[in-house]
Amino acid sequence: MDPVHLKEEHRLLQDQLRRFVAEEIVPHGERWEEEEMVPRALLRRMGELGYFGLRVPEAYGGSGMDALATVIFAEELARSTFGGVTITATVHTDMASPHLFNAGTEEQIRRWAPGLLSGETIGCIAVTEAEAGSDVQNIRTSARRDGNGWVLDGGKMFITNAVHGDVYFVAARTDPDQKASRGSSMFIVPKAAKGVEVVRKLDKMGWRSSDTAQLAFDSVKLPADALLGEENRGFYAIMKNFQTERLSAAGIYIGEMDTAIRLTLDYVKTRRAFGGTLWDQQAVRQRLAMLAAQAEAARQLVYHTAWLDSQGVDCVKEVSMAKAWCGELVNQTVYACQQFHGGSGYMRGTPIERMARDVRIHTIGGGATEVMLEEVAKRMEP
Ligand SMILES: Cc1cc2nc3c(=O)[nH]c(=O)nc-3n(C[C@H](O)[C@H](O)[C@H](O)COP(=O)(O)OP(=O)(O)OC[C@H]3O[C@@H](n4cnc5c(N)ncnc54)[C@H](O)[C@@H]3O)c2cc1C
Repeated sequence: MDPVHLKEEHRLLQDQLRRFVAEEIVPHGERWEEEEMVPRALLRRMGELGYFGLRVPEAYGGSGMDALATVIFAEELARSTFGGVTITATVHTDMASPHLFNAGTEEQIRRWAPGLLSGETIGCIAVTEAEAGSDVQNIRTSARRDGNGWVLDGGKMFITNAVHGDVYFVAARTDPDQKASRGSSMFIVPKAAKGVEVVRKLDKMGWRSSDTAQLAFDSVKLPADALLGEENRGFYAIMKNFQTERLSAAGIYIGEMDTAIRLTLDYVKTRRAFGGTLWDQQAVRQRLAMLAAQAEAARQLVYHTAWLDSQGVDCVKEVSMAKAWCGELVNQTVYACQQFHGGSGYMRGTPIERMARDVRIHTIGGGATEVMLEEVAKRMEP
């Protein structure tokens, strides 16, 4: 179905990304999975092509596009079937960097934007802690005033890009007498700052080429201009960017669903069994037809939600619905597609096997399904 929400600029982006993914990601993705890293050269190339500035205002060197660009960027990267590459790039562009552009002063933006846009500087968003995931209010990392600057203490858990990235956007408590929602702030913390330690790189089930790590901050001295946005308003900054982050996530899910179904169609139409192909089995083709219908419905929901966002409409409910439903659906879809690949779909190195590992995180990370459903429930009226 041709989405009615896309303008010419979105379609052009879609075409460019499709070529980029086919030529510059797919041929190398397996090697990066084995090496457990996405090469900086690829990220620089993405910067060169303008992919890290899609949502950034033109005045700062970006393209000034809307939320549909976030979705298309995520969706097209996800079609590569290399979830590790997709998350490396989308965390940088749509989950970390927006904190700078949403809340940064002119000086902060002028200082950090060129590197973030070119891919010279890779960003991370550091909110989660060992004792604070879904319950963001539980964060304990603190920043206290010290002369003109700040001292940061604490630690973060499960931080994407933390090993190979360069700058962390860190949530820390700045008023210990207040709840985190009224007493937290965001900070720009260079990885190179004294007292920042990558405690360990975490070993994951999927997203093998993406790096995820635990971080510790031991009396990290930060200058006054490390504070991003208003003091004690960091929680709102996090909540605000959750919308972009979750739209990006939903974009990944729809790209993966469509790709898994296409891969499976290819397989069942050629795989011979019982005197014909698997496609000749009514149960197989009807299941695939239903998966395709669901994937299309999911795609329309995600595009429509991005369009609402681009119109300035409050769409927390729709974003939460998209994140929850598509996150569950992509798991069901890829699981069913892997089933139709038979034993070969269980073998390492096949795209469907990699996707089956990669998609498991989607009902957990960036807002677990249950947390998203609470957001929807809060906004349901008779
Ligand atoms: C690979 C990976 C990459 C990540 N990258 C980042 C990153 O870059 N930056 C960052 O800050 N964080 C990151 N995270 C953290 C991620 O967002 C959290 O794991 C997620 O928010 C869930 O938090 P938790 O793991 O503490 O689970 P918990 O909060 O302990 O929840 C465990 C489970 O309990 C259930 N649950 C939780 N709350 C409720 C509720 N209210 N009602 C019903 N059920 C509930 C859910 O099923 C949930 O999965 C990453 C995590 C992973 C695994």
